[in-house]
Parts: sequence; C-alpha cells; structure tokens
Amino acid sequence: MQTISYEEGIIYEFNKENTPIRTVESGTTIRIETYDCFQNQIQTADTEVATIDWDKINPATGPIYVNDALPGDILKVKIEKIEIGEQGVMVVGPDLGVMGHRIEQMESKILPIKDDHILFNELELPLNKMIGVIGVAPEGEGVNCGTPGAHGGNMDNKMVAEGATLYFPVFVEGALFSLGDFHAAMGDGEISVSGIEVPGAATVTLEVIKGESLDHPMLENEEVFTQIVSAETLDEAIRTATSEMVERIAVKSNLSISEVTMLMSAIGQAEICQIVDPLMTARFVVPKWLLQKLNAQLI
Ligand code: CA
Ligand code: ZN
Repeated sequence: MQTISYEEGIIYEFNKENTPIRTVESGTTIRIETYDCFQNQIQTADTEVATIDWDKINPATGPIYVNDALPGDILKVKIEKIEIGEQGVMVVGPDLGVMGHRIEQMESKILPIKDDHILFNELELPLNKMIGVIGVAPEGEGVNCGTPGAHGGNMDNKMVAEGATLYFPVFVEGALFSLGDFHAAMGDGEISVSGIEVPGAATVTLEVIKGESLDHPMLENEEVFTQIVSAETLDEAIRTATSEMVERIAVKSNLSISEVTMLMSAIGQAEICQIVDPLMTARFVVPKWLLQKLNAQLI
C-alpha cells in the first residue's frame, strides 16, 4: 500500500493553487500520516502553551490529486483504519471555546493512551478515534485548515471515524484531498475548542463518483446516512443540513416534501458536530433501515 508521510507536504489552507504531493487513480487505498493539530509542538506537561508557534496550527497532510476527479463530481472517501499516537493533548484558554470566559490562562494537559482507553489523571476514558480536518480544495479563495465549509475542512464531526464513508463535492480538477487533526476522543460540540489531539495515520480509499453532485459533504456508516453543513450560526447549519437531506430523500424516494418532512420529524436527528470553530457545523442523521424501506439510494 502507498504511504504518505507528513514530511512530504502539509497545508495550512485548502486551496486550489496548492501543489499536489501525490497523484493517485480513483479506487486507490493509501495510508496518510499526520501531525496533531499543534504540529506536535506540545509533547510534555511543562511546554508553555502560550509560547508555541500559532502559525503552525491544524496542518493537514496533502494535497492528493485524484485522477479523473472533475468539478461537479463527488469524491468518495472510505476511512478503512485510523491509527493514533501514544499520547494526546488538550488545551483550554481565555476566550477559547464555550468556557473561555471562566479560564484565566492557557493550560494544556498530556493524556497517555493505553490500549483501548485514554488516561485523564486516574480516569480511564473510552477511545473514540476520529478525524477533525478532512476535505478537498474549495471553489474560490482558499480556506484555512481551522475553518470548515462546503469543501469539508475542520468539521470536527465525531462520526468521521473508522468505517465511515465521506462524500465531498469536487470543486477543482483532481479534487486535492487532504486530512489531519485527529482526536483520540471528542464529544459533540468540542466545547473546549480541542478534542484529545493526537498525531496519527489514516488508511483511506479514494474514489471518484460521476453523475451525482452535492452542495455539502455527506457521511454514511453502518447505521446512518448524514448531511453535514457548516455556517455562521448553528441555527443556519442545522436548517440547511435538514433541508438538503429532506430534498434529497424526496428526489430519491418518490415521496412528497410534506411526507418526507413528517418522516424526518418523526425519525431523523438534527445533531451538533462542533460549536467552537470560525463556522459552526451540524449534521442531519437518517437511519439506513428507513432509507432501505423507502428504496432511496442517496448517492
Ligand atoms: Ca479541529
Ligand atoms: Zn483537533
């Protein structure tokens, strides 16, 4: 299997002008190694968080050029495997995240990772390995890796985990796929502004889908299909994610908008990904058993 090291190239901005570090055929499975979101600058408990280089934040390894990917296509990304390092780090700080008003100085905490759990002091926390930053180059201006959008980016969605498949709209030739910012665990909201940040490696299969288009990323796993949207406010993100999912199911199922709206009000879930990045991210979640009964193949 091909591997890409972060030493081959990282980006701080998803940008159509970025030079690809690798070109692959559609259908390629590739292992991509990543720094943590602080570019591995915080390794010990006595690292002064305030003194790290804040220009080196959220590096994503890439971009990878996928042959045959053209604007209007979909890039399908199956996450086959997520490996993570032996310790994670969390930070809090004044004006960061939801509780920044109660926190007086930058603080960090190193969290050792052992087998299937994370140590927080003496507490054992369950692992919930996930990818924070993942996406393709956007259509116009570049978007820094700390900000999510229609191209993906810093969505901080805990469902971006092993076994999940993401679908991204392709905006530029080759799609220019990159990823980084892994978390050993993160809750919905990511309220402190950091998950349990870890370096790692993801094995992904990249595949171009023709004849289908998307406005925003979608994700499926064994149980559910989801629509992911980032916007200025959480209200707007949830409304757009919900509305795009209802419209898509109506098109793919022969049910009316009214009926799909009723069904989604009964069975769908409007959920929060994160509320602490420059744009907020939400997802609308539909169980696959329902889609199967409706004979609705969403992609
Ligand atoms: Ca993040
Ligand atoms: Zn992160």
